[in-house]
Amino acid sequence: LFFPVEMAPHDPILGLNETYNADLRAEKVNLGVGVYYDEAGKVPLLRAVQAAEEARVAEHAPRSYLPIEGLAPYDLAVQKLLFGTESSIVESGRLITAQSLGGTGALKLGADFLFRLTGKKLVAISDPSWENHRALFEAAGYEVVTYPYYDAATNGLNLNGMLEGIEALPEGSVVLLHACCHNPTGVDLGLADWARVIDVIQRKNHVPFLDIAYQGFGENLQDDALAVRLFAETGMPFLVASSFSKSFSLYGERVGALTLVTSTPDERDRVLSQLKRVIRTNYSNPPTHGAKVVAAVLNNPELYAMWEDELAEMRERIRGMRQALAEKLKEAGVTQDVDYIQRQRGMFSYSGLNKDQVKRLADEFAIYAVSSGRICVAALNSANIDHVAKAIAAVMKD
Ligand code: PMP
Repeated sequence: LFFPVEMAPHDPILGLNETYNADLRAEKVNLGVGVYYDEAGKVPLLRAVQAAEEARVAEHAPRSYLPIEGLAPYDLAVQKLLFGTESSIVESGRLITAQSLGGTGALKLGADFLFRLTGKKLVAISDPSWENHRALFEAAGYEVVTYPYYDAATNGLNLNGMLEGIEALPEGSVVLLHACCHNPTGVDLGLADWARVIDVIQRKNHVPFLDIAYQGFGENLQDDALAVRLFAETGMPFLVASSFSKSFSLYGERVGALTLVTSTPDERDRVLSQLKRVIRTNYSNPPTHGAKVVAAVLNNPELYAMWEDELAEMRERIRGMRQALAEKLKEAGVTQDVDYIQRQRGMFSYSGLNKDQVKRLADEFAIYAVSSGRICVAALNSANIDHVAKAIAAVMKD
């Protein structure tokens, strides 16, 4: 039976972790990960999460099944976080939110739903994008194409390329957009940029699918939801895949959500009934723990305030590391412009390092990064930043 099965290609990031783990040099640093580490180099357990977990354990509640679309107080809290507590869309009867297995699960649910029930076959993702976007949509049956996004000359956004690329797609294509803290580049759109992107998408009847995996890591919870809220204002149907893996530091609990904005309450009911079938025939219903914890925090003003502070701490620490890295690169004699490191947002920076330079970082300095040059700024701390800055400077200068 399994004789003809061939070896799958190596996962570039997981493969990196294996090599990193096997490296015996004490000064080793793993900048390949997509995880926030605190100043001590640890994945934090947030205080708000711990408080919610302790309360939950103390309840000694039985473990029944959740509804197919997940925990209702969680789903509603997700909508308020995405659209704002004051948003009329939350009350409109046009929204569906289904709890999902992380942001990845939300993307897959949305992809399966659009493919099976609306006949969508083509999706456009940014160039570059999170590497799992392509793989996930291909696995769901789509043809995956790209639209221009990153401008290597400015380390910024190629807005005109993006607009032209989206315009040139066949009418009614699915367009996947990073709502904030673009992975891997850290380059985001501003208000005026979004307005132009939305205009093209509306004219071409495209289907926007927003991926928001880092809400709160850019500016703050409200500003980072700008794209979601601008799309909501248009009244057009769209999808949002959201995740609490990073913002609650709950990676392994798999807490995300798929939100669909439909056109009418009647449409909502039909779409929900079909979405439930997609879920039921896949994993039946989602797990309880992570969603209970997140809902407890989002629905309790004190815990919410505590969480918002902790999120701000994470965001500010990353900002501090961005500034320190740019300064230390200059001190180490780098003459190229490195200020873009401070302009980029979220956990990542596209360092501009090429494959050979990334290889040299690993071989000579025990510093591991993705071969595209993406580095996780959230893995830097005051104990490793000097070593990292000197090493990057060394490979940039030669
Ligand atoms: N989208 C993007 C852009 C991401 O970077 C990630 C996480 N690396 C995800 C979605 C998925 O997140 P999760 O771990 O919640 O599945």
